[in-house]
Amino acid sequence: MDDCDVAIVGGGLAGLIAGCETAGAGLKTVLFESAAELGGRARTRRQDGFHFNQGPHAVYAAGALRRALDDFGVACPGAPAPIAGGQLLWGETLHPLPGGAASLLTATPLGLRDRLELATTLGKLSQGKIAGEGRSLSEVTRAFRPRVRRVIETLARLSTYANAPDTLDAQAALDQIRLAFANVLYLDGGWETLIAGLARTARGRGAEIAAGLAVTALAPHETGWRVTLADGRALSARAVILAADPATCASLAPDVPDIAAAAGRVAPVRAVCLDLALSALPAPRNGFALGVDEPLYLSVHSKTARLAPDGGALIHLAWYLAPAEAPTKAHLERPSGSPTSCSPAGEAWKSRDSSCSASPWPTTTRGPDGPARLSRPLRPRRSTSPATGWERRACCRTPRRPAHVSPPARLSRA
Ligand SMILES: Cc1cc2nc3c(=O)[nH]c(=O)nc-3n(C[C@H](O)[C@H](O)[C@H](O)COP(=O)(O)OP(=O)(O)OC[C@H]3O[C@@H](n4cnc5c(N)ncnc54)[C@H](O)[C@@H]3O)c2cc1C
Repeated sequence: MDDCDVAIVGGGLAGLIAGCETAGAGLKTVLFESAAELGGRARTRRQDGFHFNQGPHAVYAAGALRRALDDFGVACPGAPAPIAGGQLLWGETLHPLPGGAASLLTATPLGLRDRLELATTLGKLSQGKIAGEGRSLSEVTRAFRPRVRRVIETLARLSTYANAPDTLDAQAALDQIRLAFANVLYLDGGWETLIAGLARTARGRGAEIAAGLAVTALAPHETGWRVTLADGRALSARAVILAADPATCASLAPDVPDIAAAAGRVAPVRAVCLDLALSALPAPRNGFALGVDEPLYLSVHSKTARLAPDGGALIHLAWYLAPAEAPTKAHLERPSGSPTSCSPAGEAWKSRDSSCSASPWPTTTRGPDGPARLSRPLRPRRSTSPATGWERRACCRTPRRPAHVSPPARLSRA
């Protein structure tokens, strides 16, 4: 393999976007992806006409990813999430998700003073008038009435995926809620659409993409870096962009203290996810619900985006894990035990009409106290719909790989 100006480690969204940038700037770019397919956590698995993202995925309409895609001319086909018709699961009862004045009036667990404070708080929040710098989210929300606090922390969970109000940076959380107010898009065909578009753009600009080829070591070398590959080859690069997970990045260059230090500063965001495909929705009225007392998320993405065959439904259920919380099978069972008035799937996923397969994804993850494990393995179950002939399969993947949202680290030597 020839030497290059820039070697990129990782072919997820961050690596591909970096590749579009550097190749577009005329730099000779080579991107390495250890998996056989590009995409990382933005990969979509296609099966029987369903498009399974890895857990619920939505593009923030006013976010940085959307801007980058626009800059590169990568299409983002899909539609806004139906948050306006969403519901809050408060205890065992559903209430409209307070998104505007009308829903505030019907958010029944809230008393009059709660509603007034929530209206004022949401107004200030959307204008960026709540200061959060240097404080945790809970330090900011502590000043609110208890029920208002719970609504704001629920919205923070929804938009950041983090169930850690004591450690989550308040400014980051409030900014992200504000971004969510500008709505999010569910994508036709899943996030694979973005990956394919970015890979096409990077290649079109001259980047070389090597999938199925891991980088195994990085070492300072003359005017740049020596990049060693899993097949034993090596090349020189003037600069390296790290777009893999922090622990891998630290292990590739153990003698570069900055990388280990950066990796040590990030905390994984974890969720237990169930991606569920059904032949039909038992409760078609419901499209989106959020738990307030419990960190639950339920959404029928196929109501909005083309992710399922005609008549079918693709549902995402998630349980946001607290920092030290271990994922268990009960986390997956709780959403199905929610009131059927809330759960679009009801009990269907446990019935003979649906099935659940253990995921090929890692079933361990590293929390602050070391690797967390499922309490017991999930057993695959399958069935075929006699009505339609296509197989209905629910895909349990737990836990997710951490959803770090951090910019790629750059290694460059002048
Ligand atoms: C359940 C879930 C829901 C999410 N929902 C949203 C959402 O709604 N909106 C949103 O904006 N974001 C969402 N995210 C986050 C988003 O998916 C990620 O931020 C994004 O996909 C991360 O991209 P990345 O390129 O930084 O990392 P990754 O996707 O992890 O890519 C890193 C890549 O590096 C590769 N790699 C690792 N080691 C090596 C090596 N040694 N050599 C070569 N390659 C290597 C890996 O195989 C991987 O493909 C969600 C994430 C999860 C898990």
